[in-house]
Amino acid sequence: LISRKWKVEPTRIDLGDGVVIGEGQFSIMAGPCSIESEKQIELVVQHLVENNVKIMRGGVFKPRSSPYAFRGLGLEGLQMFHRICRENGIKIITEVMQVSQIEDMIDYVDVFQVGARNSQNFNLLDSLGAAQKPVLLKRGISGTLEELLQAAEYIFSNGNEKIMLCERGIRSYENSYRNVLDLNAVPVLKAKTHLPVIVDPSHGIGLRDYVEEMSLAAVMAGADGVIYETHQKPEEAFSDGQQTLNFKESERLIRRMRQAYALR
Ligand code: PEP
Ligand code: MN
Repeated sequence: LISRKWKVEPTRIDLGDGVVIGEGQFSIMAGPCSIESEKQIELVVQHLVENNVKIMRGGVFKPRSSPYAFRGLGLEGLQMFHRICRENGIKIITEVMQVSQIEDMIDYVDVFQVGARNSQNFNLLDSLGAAQKPVLLKRGISGTLEELLQAAEYIFSNGNEKIMLCERGIRSYENSYRNVLDLNAVPVLKAKTHLPVIVDPSHGIGLRDYVEEMSLAAVMAGADGVIYETHQKPEEAFSDGQQTLNFKESERLIRRMRQAYALR
């Protein structure tokens, strides 16, 4: 169902209020790795509004490698995130980790993110298929493109066609950076499916100094959008500070991505 052979016309996902994701536009989604406080949300929202970015990312349920690390503000954090974004005309993308959270989260979310670690959680995918909210599905940490496509097929075959695929880097033996951002995936996925393809350069390379270059490369590779991490003080971020841009860097990135997209 997700194949270009089945549907030639590219899928576009309408989040309302003129925010559409898919071929014909370039979508920018930005925000902190984790939602941390009301003040932080306000500062990021202000930064996004100033730069005409319409979608904010931010985790309230965080999949952390260590159980002792900060694991997110949970549903209360999401409700605060939702209130501030609504007041400012910003859409929300946030990660859902398990089936039981869908019902609690659904009224406060515009796009459900499925993280790399849950990319093959088939029960979660089935339930998101039934839920009818847009889904950004990340590639697994060591996932093949075929596995990503089959995961999307789980959601689609349950009746939810509003899916975007996300390349976020795969694990390799190279340890000079966090992951290997596989930009090969972009044209290949675009050829194979009618779904929008989004790139996450922050997790893809994991080092803030190179996020801009990889984002620009993603634009030129044909991505329909980029999702990246930004924070008012990256060095104080609760998670993923090393790959997070400050607002000055973020502003420059937004400007350069828009310039690059105009040349594509
Ligand atoms: C995130 O977006 O902060 C995240 C945890 O991403 P991933 O699932 O790609 O590691
Ligand atoms: Mn992160």
